Amino acid sequence: MSTQRVRFLEQSERKAFDTKHRKTINHNISRYEDAVSNGVLQFASLENAKERASNIKHKVIEHLDEYLIEFESNLKHMGGRVVWALNKKDAVREILKILKEHDVNMVVKSKSVTTEELELNEMLSRNGIEPVETDLGEYIVQVAGEKPYHILTPAMHKSKEDVAALFHDKFGIPADSTPEQITLFVREKLREKFLQAGAGMTGANFLIADTGAVAVTENEGNALMSMAFPKLHIVVAGIEKIIPSLSDLHLFWPLLSSHGSGQNITVYNTLLTGPRKEKETDGPDEMIVVLIDNGRTDLLKQTPHRRALSCIHCGACLNVCPVYKNIGGHAYDATYTGPIGSVINPYLHDFSQYIHLSFASSLCGRCTATCPVKINLHELLLFNRYESVRRGQLHPGEKVIMKGWKYIMLKRYRMDFFRATTKNRALAYFFGQAWGQRRILPIIRKKSFRQLWTENG
Ligand code: SF4
Repeated sequence: MSTQRVRFLEQSERKAFDTKHRKTINHNISRYEDAVSNGVLQFASLENAKERASNIKHKVIEHLDEYLIEFESNLKHMGGRVVWALNKKDAVREILKILKEHDVNMVVKSKSVTTEELELNEMLSRNGIEPVETDLGEYIVQVAGEKPYHILTPAMHKSKEDVAALFHDKFGIPADSTPEQITLFVREKLREKFLQAGAGMTGANFLIADTGAVAVTENEGNALMSMAFPKLHIVVAGIEKIIPSLSDLHLFWPLLSSHGSGQNITVYNTLLTGPRKEKETDGPDEMIVVLIDNGRTDLLKQTPHRRALSCIHCGACLNVCPVYKNIGGHAYDATYTGPIGSVINPYLHDFSQYIHLSFASSLCGRCTATCPVKINLHELLLFNRYESVRRGQLHPGEKVIMKGWKYIMLKRYRMDFFRATTKNRALAYFFGQAWGQRRILPIIRKKSFRQLWTENG
């Protein structure tokens, strides 16, 4: 059993029966679910909007190489620069190189989930560069020394009382501080950081090929300040974030906001078109976009799985997933969690270490039904399971058991050969452990349906 799988089972067991965690997460997720149901009412035909978005992303994925080159060339025209990074190691090395060249010892960050994938904060700290998360949720988990819990709402697992207690411990503010008081406190603290930082780092919600612009969506305005104050702005984004044209935003912005937070449109939607130009009053002197592959082209190679690259990171599939709602985000031990995380993590990391996530699903299909870009998530989980068999990841014992099972099940007389007690013992012996202690194995009755039918027919 892989070490990740063992950890996942331990964590899931603990979290699923932690009633406080369950209460907080169910409360917070239900607020999102209600908001999303209202948010999607803005579409005259939600299905048409999803279909169009899915088609656009499909086109992008099929021609990703061309769109990426177009994006790079247009960004260059506007004075920006692209750095290509094949994997996590390349990306971290390049980012550190850029920061050292610019003598940066503090970076203000916002909306940069991709940097979590690179474990960049740890690497920056190890190299004497202070990373400061400026998005409130990210800041809370950074202060707590934790990883983000959810791709859109990183501190979703904390109640307002948890956050007040945390800030009381760390900064000595009153333990009964309200969310408004905490927000004001953080705002004051971060203002200094924006002024001191040598670089700002953000992610990208969309990279727009026909203009070379970077679109960033947020509700707090901290990403805006991370771009506008420091002299250097680094964007860290996965290569799949491309959309063909500026005109596609009228579809993607409302789809993202309605499915992510239930808003008609997010509060701040910024388009970055290179560094500050002459006569412009704010913006960085230099803008660099680090484009990360890190396993995405492995996904691209797999025909059914490549659809997962359409993801716009709205987080909706996490919020509806019965598994996520029970075990929470940290159990996945990965940046991308929930159904989309279970699909893509085996390709972004070591396949054998993360494939167990594809089996942690009821395959109910709610993720697929909710996805604004129509990714067939539950089917992709099945494809992952198939892929694990193809790669020989199946336990040899399981293979033998399934062969025996098939042999017996294909003929009635073989099924009836054994007595019910023997069958029940065999079930308990072969499947008892996988079934778990909390579920009761199905009991095979003494008489089969066929026997009962003949007797009573
Ligand atoms: S897979 Fe779909 S629902 Fe899930 S985060 Fe991505 S876009 Fe949203």
